[in-house]
Formats: sequence, C-alpha cells, structure tokens
Amino acid sequence: MDTGNKETILIVEDERKIAEIIRAYLDREGYVVRLAATGAQALELFREPFDLVILDLMLPDMQGEELCRIIRERSDAPVIMLTAKSGEEDRIRGLGIGADDYVVKPFSPRELVARVKAQLRRAGRTKRRGMSFNRGALTIDLETREVLSQGEPVVLTPTEFKILLSLAERPGRIFSREQLLNIAQGYDFEGSDRTIDAHVKNLRHKIEQDSKEPVFIRTVYGTGYKFTGSPDED
Ligand code: CA
Repeated sequence: MDTGNKETILIVEDERKIAEIIRAYLDREGYVVRLAATGAQALELFREPFDLVILDLMLPDMQGEELCRIIRERSDAPVIMLTAKSGEEDRIRGLGIGADDYVVKPFSPRELVARVKAQLRRAGRTKRRGMSFNRGALTIDLETREVLSQGEPVVLTPTEFKILLSLAERPGRIFSREQLLNIAQGYDFEGSDRTIDAHVKNLRHKIEQDSKEPVFIRTVYGTGYKFTGSPDED
C-alpha cells in the first residue's frame, strides 16, 4: 500500500470504542492508522514498519509491557502507552520498559494527538541530522558519529557511543541498567550492572563539565539512568 509521506501509526487496544475514537482523531490529522486488538495481531502487523505505536497496557493475550519490549527490539518507533493505572510507580515502570510517553485513561484524545505529534517531531529531528543539547554544549553527528563537548571533539568507544545515543534519543526516559547492557552488548552477552556503571562513568568524564554534577546523564536511584540534556530547537 502506498502511504505517501504520511506517517503510519499502529494502535494496539482491545477496547474497540477507545481504539475507534483515537483512530478518528488521528485520521483527521492525516496519519495512516492501523488497529490491532491483541498482541498477536500487533506483532502480525508489525512486519511492516510503523512510525509510532500507541499501546494499551492491558491486552487480552499479552501484557503491554511484554509487547513493548518486543517492539523495542525490532524498532526505534516511539511508543506511547495507554493505561488505567495512575500510580507513579507504574508510570516509572512503564517508562523503564521502553515506552517514550505514557497516557492515563481516561484521557482527552486531543491531548493524545498532541503527544503523538511531539513524539513524531522528536523522532524526525533525530533522523534528519544530528542532535544538539543545552545550546550546543553537546552535539552528536549521526552520520560521522562525531561527538562534540563544548565544541571540542571527544573520543568515545563504540559502546559508549551506543549508550549515549540511546539515552540522548529519548531525553527523560529512564533506562534500566539491563536495558543499557542489552543496547551496548546485545541480548546474548553476559554482563553485570557494574559494566554499565563503568561505561557511564567514562562517558561522564568525557561529556560532562563536572562528572560529579552531571547535567546530561543522571542516575535514577534504584532504576538506572536518564538523559537530561535539553534538545536545541532547529
Ligand atoms: Ca485493554
């Protein structure tokens, strides 16, 4: 199917009414929308690429977290989770498993559309050029893989680069040490949390002005790390 330049969005939601409402709003914005009512259907559809996924946490055949993990292994598409749970712990857990944003039911469809647009903008910006944070204090060129700190080139190991890129592509998202280990070394590689701590320590020495007071890579106690640089506008 020719979808032109329109971005394609997959909605995974077993509550038909909710799915249809979201679809109507996204249709109106010109997105190409596909619906899946189960995890199995979603994985079937996911053979095609999507630009963004809206994913309900409670599905009949699979936990949303599990599906999110599988999607994350296959794609960089932003994932927005829908949930009826509103506790802060659930929120953090949701973000920790690889979701980019989180909307609690009942939500306003307009709010969801705004978040969809924000995620697609961010993803598009990442694709187009490099990334720049804190008014150019840190820049990452995705073509040349050159990283500049305060305008000066810094030499990163391939593993450090992978970790930095994964974090910087999703400012604010919490990554567990296990996730970072998987990103850095692949799923089959045995490593410990300390391996990631050592890489992060080295990264901080290279990209932070003061590695004791990091502004780019912050520790989330008991969870992992998140990127806290603020992206520069185009
Ligand atoms: Ca549900």
